[in-house]
Amino acid sequence: MIEAILFDFGGTLDTNGIHWSEMFRTAYENAKLGITFEDFNEAYVKAESMMYKLIKRNDSFFNTIHTQSFLQLKYLEENKSYNFPGGSSVTSEVIAKNCYDYVLKTIGTVGQLLSSLGKNYKLGVVSNFYGNLEASLESLGIAKFFSVITDSTLAGVSKPDPAIFRAAISKLSEEMVPEKITAENILVVGDSYTRDIEPSKKLDCKTIWLDVRSWERPEKTVSADFIVKDIVEIKEIIHKLSPR
Ligand SMILES: [Mg+2]
Repeated sequence: MIEAILFDFGGTLDTNGIHWSEMFRTAYENAKLGITFEDFNEAYVKAESMMYKLIKRNDSFFNTIHTQSFLQLKYLEENKSYNFPGGSSVTSEVIAKNCYDYVLKTIGTVGQLLSSLGKNYKLGVVSNFYGNLEASLESLGIAKFFSVITDSTLAGVSKPDPAIFRAAISKLSEEMVPEKITAENILVVGDSYTRDIEPSKKLDCKTIWLDVRSWERPEKTVSADFIVKDIVEIKEIIHKLSPR
């Protein structure tokens, strides 16, 4: 019986399976910025590590992706001699808007799904984020659906360490007093097999892997109880596991 559902955020609720490296890469390609595959990958990884220092706790989701794109483009300007129209500041805003439009469309569908699931199950988010997960969910209008919001930066532990899921489960248990919730009654949904599915399966959660365009795709995927190509498919699976 499923009592609660824990979702990943980035690549899952915001893009329905598309990893953020793919989101940015596609936006840069569409803008014809001429960034090579190797240079982009390097800039993506470098920018990611700087995000943790720059993002403030109340930064919105738009600010988050704008900062991320800005850091990527600035890295390319400074280290790979690229030139962007109007500089990295102007170009990153165009790119962030482009990605944000896609996110808003996804959130339209995801919001309906969360609203419907929230009537029967406790919902939570577990994410490797920059300390502003709650502000980001708030800015997208979906924070209200979640009883538990676990941000790795604030929790002091990140995926793939199962401890981050353990922390979210113990918060859920507090929420559900006097009933106690156990991992077997929790479903975890995420786009990363190694970060979402493997660690939560170790704790005995049920797992649904959103397998669309991940950062990496392992050969063995036995920890996934179910595999979907679109997040809306989870509704049917949950209904079968736990009819309500
Ligand atoms: Mg993800």
